[in-house]
Amino acid sequence: MQIPGPIDPIVREAKPASPDEKIDILGLSRDELKQKLIEAGVPEKQAGMRTSQVWGWIYHKGVTSFDDMANISKDVRALLGSLFRISRPEIIDAQYSEDGTRKYLLKFNDGSEAEAVYIPDEDRGTLCISSQVGCTLNCKFCHTGTQRLVRNLTANEIVAQMMVARDDLCEWPASSINRKVTNIVMMGMGEPLYNFDNVKKALHIIMDKEGIQLSRRRITLSTSGVVPMMERAGKEIGVNLAVSLHAVDNETRDEVVPINRKYPIEELLEACQKYPGTHNSRRITFEYTMLKGVNDSDKDALNLVRLLKKYDLPAKVNLIPFNPWPGTPYECSSWDRIRAFSELVFAKGISAPIRMPRGRDIMAACGQLKSESQKLRKSQQIALDKEKQEKKGNKNAN
Ligand code: SAH
Ligand code: SF4
Repeated sequence: MQIPGPIDPIVREAKPASPDEKIDILGLSRDELKQKLIEAGVPEKQAGMRTSQVWGWIYHKGVTSFDDMANISKDVRALLGSLFRISRPEIIDAQYSEDGTRKYLLKFNDGSEAEAVYIPDEDRGTLCISSQVGCTLNCKFCHTGTQRLVRNLTANEIVAQMMVARDDLCEWPASSINRKVTNIVMMGMGEPLYNFDNVKKALHIIMDKEGIQLSRRRITLSTSGVVPMMERAGKEIGVNLAVSLHAVDNETRDEVVPINRKYPIEELLEACQKYPGTHNSRRITFEYTMLKGVNDSDKDALNLVRLLKKYDLPAKVNLIPFNPWPGTPYECSSWDRIRAFSELVFAKGISAPIRMPRGRDIMAACGQLKSESQKLRKSQQIALDKEKQEKKGNKNAN
């Protein structure tokens, strides 16, 4: 859905499916699949049952071929195979961090790339999913915003990120005991509310009781502040909300999160007030990236508390140490400063934990996305080539 106005993006949609013209089954809701089966001649009475069977194989057993769907007759399997595809994006790079974080660089049908990151904790496993290739919003401290190529991911491509992670984590056959991806955060590349329809569709497939069946309470959508879409997100998707605040006065926020020029802090916080379903046990998360000398003073901390109290928001604050990238004008605040900021906010009764960076060794932390990993791969390759050359040289010398 396009939002009119100068700051809003004209985003390319994905190229239609693959050369074989088959439909990717992962992006279809149960109703859509059922409808397509009826159109293809499956009797209406059978179509609901077939849909449930197919979903069971795909989302509970992880099969990627219709031939493996043992309880479906051969004829129907052939029909399914002629209409649909159960594909996965190509994993062009998978990196495993020392701390258990896994980062997948994925390539879609049209050659576009996006990342998904899995972050294991003691009591949960969180998958950070991308909603767009690149991002149009150019937040000054975010590397994704510097990427040129931007397009919306389709519902299929969003659901597929989850399936790739589940394959890699050996989640099949899926069960409540075996679940590794227990939570989802829409905090990868892109602004999810600029790709509302596809994000909504994908999350409904992920939440469906016959599908992956992830509770909406375990899903968080992060927005930089697309105010006109926030209420709809709450009503039509109903997941937890995170807001990228990052500054407490409009002058600073205009600079670091430029969408603020269109939807300033006051409008953003009013939209938060209207977000349905929030209360003390279901708070809105305010993300706050700590930028040295920009937004990290005691005054900023107190203003943050003042704002959240003024709007009477059930809120928690996540303090994110800034992850630097080459060419960035910003630096991360010192640990002492971050700790002092956190303590000040806590002292005023608002939870403000410091989010420890994960997967830094594989460039998987917030804002260290695709182009960075490509550079890393390139530099690793150069280092390897150099090592080979040196070994060769040594051999020749011997
Ligand atoms: N586009 C969405 C979600 C993706 S970014 C949004 O902006 O909310 C997830 C979080 O990481 C956001 O709060 C974002 O502002 C923050 N972030 C981006 N780049 C960062 C960096 N280099 N260091 C720390 N946090 C960063
Ligand atoms: Fe886009 Fe979010 Fe990065 Fe801003 S912080 S450029 S909205 S991905």
